[in-house]
Amino acid sequence: MATRAGLGWIGKNGLLITPALGPAIRLSSLLTDAPLTAGAPIDRSRCGGCRACVDACPAQALTGALWQAGMAREMIVDVEKCYAKQLEIMERATGIRTDLCGKCFAVCPYARRPSPDRAP
Ligand code: SF4
Ligand code: SF4
Repeated sequence: MATRAGLGWIGKNGLLITPALGPAIRLSSLLTDAPLTAGAPIDRSRCGGCRACVDACPAQALTGALWQAGMAREMIVDVEKCYAKQLEIMERATGIRTDLCGKCFAVCPYARRPSPDRAP
């Protein structure tokens, strides 16, 4: 829905990547009849040659494929490998069997670079 609304594209980490904040966003929904203008759908990845998330993934769960609209998630990320590694990391670090990793999120340059939208 977000790519159809022109908010961003799906990155090589399988997450929605927005131009201003990368994956560092949280989506919510609101029902309204306000006359809002929709953005133009984004149909192709803008990750280019970046592989930061692919190389950072400790599970080798990311294929490195460039997303395009309609592509199956399995072509980008092996969610079972990802989930198993998250459990392993957290159990080793805390003794608690829960899923948390986010390395593919943290390294994304779209989340790390200065953005005009965030200028004071
Ligand atoms: S959350 Fe961790 S294990 Fe899963 S794809 Fe991202 S970096 Fe890999
Ligand atoms: S780290 Fe690079 S390849 Fe991964 S989602 Fe961000 S821009 Fe795309």
